Amino acid sequence: MKDHKIDLRKTESRLFQVAAELLATAHDQKGLTAVMSAFVDSVEELAGHREVACRAGCSHCCVLNVAVLLPEAAVIAAWLEMRTPEGDRELLLDQLRKQAVRVRWMEDSERIHRSTVCPFLDQAGRCGVYPVRPLVCRGVTSLDQAACREVLDPSVFDSSFAVPMDTTRKLVIDTAFCALAHALDQQKIMSRSIELSAGVSIFLGRPDLVRSLLLGEILPESLWE
Ligand code: SF4
Repeated sequence: MKDHKIDLRKTESRLFQVAAELLATAHDQKGLTAVMSAFVDSVEELAGHREVACRAGCSHCCVLNVAVLLPEAAVIAAWLEMRTPEGDRELLLDQLRKQAVRVRWMEDSERIHRSTVCPFLDQAGRCGVYPVRPLVCRGVTSLDQAACREVLDPSVFDSSFAVPMDTTRKLVIDTAFCALAHALDQQKIMSRSIELSAGVSIFLGRPDLVRSLLLGEILPESLWE
């Protein structure tokens, strides 16, 4: 399939409108989950589905830092809460908090070198939150697995090798991230981004904060310190 040309300004404007209209209807966790799912559907439709080399079980890139907007973190937390037996939730929360501390000041190169993988990666190398994975993860694709192996080899520090990817998809999804942040601002909802494990641990530990977030309250700084 050939790359289709996209008008990024129009794409951002359209996705901003979609996000703003959807967010205005979200008042609780269930509503937010529905809103984010509908937003992602719109994004995916615009991003297209070019044949890529990425496959379930290929997880070379799941070692890179991932930033999420707070609603993305809240949706992942709710998804995990539903699927994690009650007795295992404290352990999961503890693992996420430890990961957040571990990666807080780590550059991508250090994470690669130390093989500090995403806490949601399962034993088979699959994404454990795939249906609700962050926009950033959706935007990273590869057209060449060998290039991923080379670039993300932990024994090579600061590899300069580049991975060919579906750049149209990446541009659309980066644009979607900005459009969502812009729509959050418009709805007076906090639009800050946060490292993935830190963000998810906040809402997994305090699901009540979702309502506060949607009401436009400023969540306490102590949550990300
Ligand atoms: S959320 Fe999923 S796709 Fe993203 S880095 Fe983690 S395991 Fe990989």
